[in-house]
Amino acid sequence: MPTDLAAEAKQRGIKYFLISYTDLFGTQRAKLVPASAIGEMVRAGASFAGFATWLDMTPADPDTFAMPDPASLVQLPWKPEVGWVAADLVMNDALVAHAPRNALKGTMADAAKDGWQMKTGVECEFFLIAPDGSAISDPADRQSKPCYDQLALMRRYDVIAEICDAMAALGWGPYQNDHEDANGQFEMNWDYADALVTADRHAFFKYMVKSVAEKHGLRATFMPKPFSNLTGNGCHMHVSLWRGEENAFADDGANHGLSADGFAFIGGVLSSAKALCAFLNPTVNSYKRINAPRTLSGATWSPNAISYTGNNRTHMIRIPAGGRFELRLGDGAMNPYLAPAAVLAAGLDGIRRKRDPGPPLTINMYTERHTVPEVESLPLNLLDALRELEASETLNAALAGAIPAYLKLKREEWNDYARHLTAWERETTLDC
Ligand SMILES: [Mg+2]
Repeated sequence: MPTDLAAEAKQRGIKYFLISYTDLFGTQRAKLVPASAIGEMVRAGASFAGFATWLDMTPADPDTFAMPDPASLVQLPWKPEVGWVAADLVMNDALVAHAPRNALKGTMADAAKDGWQMKTGVECEFFLIAPDGSAISDPADRQSKPCYDQLALMRRYDVIAEICDAMAALGWGPYQNDHEDANGQFEMNWDYADALVTADRHAFFKYMVKSVAEKHGLRATFMPKPFSNLTGNGCHMHVSLWRGEENAFADDGANHGLSADGFAFIGGVLSSAKALCAFLNPTVNSYKRINAPRTLSGATWSPNAISYTGNNRTHMIRIPAGGRFELRLGDGAMNPYLAPAAVLAAGLDGIRRKRDPGPPLTINMYTERHTVPEVESLPLNLLDALRELEASETLNAALAGAIPAYLKLKREEWNDYARHLTAWERETTLDC
């Protein structure tokens, strides 16, 4: 694991460093710093006008400094003379509490007090689209059930293989790539790891996919629902808690191979699910995915109710095998840092309060939802989710430094959206 960026630059031929941070809305911001200056940047940080990005700051605030974390160094596979490093934001010599990477490190430190380390794996779905964003990039990708379409996958071999080769060279352990359930949609999987490591990789993966797609004359989007007739972009998260080398969610003798702590963690996630949507489904557009009608394949691939199950893809939480669970709620817009921070906070609350998730459901939620009216539904829009987050004692206690800033900026975004006059309104209301 790199510790000295100046030495890494000499050894690897890195000429520039991208000192990068992810803001509250998930946008990556960076300064490009020549290797000759990296020693000073590591000492003092790269300065930013924080208010100019999605952070809760004003022009009257002093400089924000991005302190590069050498352990996160990634040499750009498509431009090896540049090294990307994730950074932690500092202002007035103190960590910026609402900076997403700081928030995740905070919840992980809280978990560590009880001896827990969270490990996560993420399944980032994306579309390869035309550069102007109007349509998918492959006009021949037209099957009505396109999932795992071999021909369409291989027509994008050059892009997918370049990204997969890069992940292998970076030591991420990529193991499969496929065409997903929507025309033009793909997913690439790599090994799970410590939650902060995965968060940095998740952030970098989005940057890498977009960059490599651009290099091939295409555009990549992780937008939750870019096309109303096609399955949206999910970002399923696989979660386990560890004590040292031991997976504390594994219990071969228990139902579904999941330990009592694992079930209690799920109980916590179920109990905070509506508030979690504010982080896992963070955009206006997100709610067109989680409440979507089924596509021809027979699934939306996303939940609309707060339930869990064994190996059944119609529920919010699936336990596909022992020792972990899959949270299917998140989408492509979720912040790589805030999402796991919030899930960990909810899960820790479940363990500490021994929250009982009840028995798992086994029904097909797409066809038999009406048989379980007691199961609560997910929020129908971003505003409802933000209200749930504001009311969540659990999440506000765990993420006290981040949530007020997040709510403030997200409310402003909602108000901006609500003021926007849509074509639908004109069509349905002109003749009122
Ligand atoms: Mg998928």
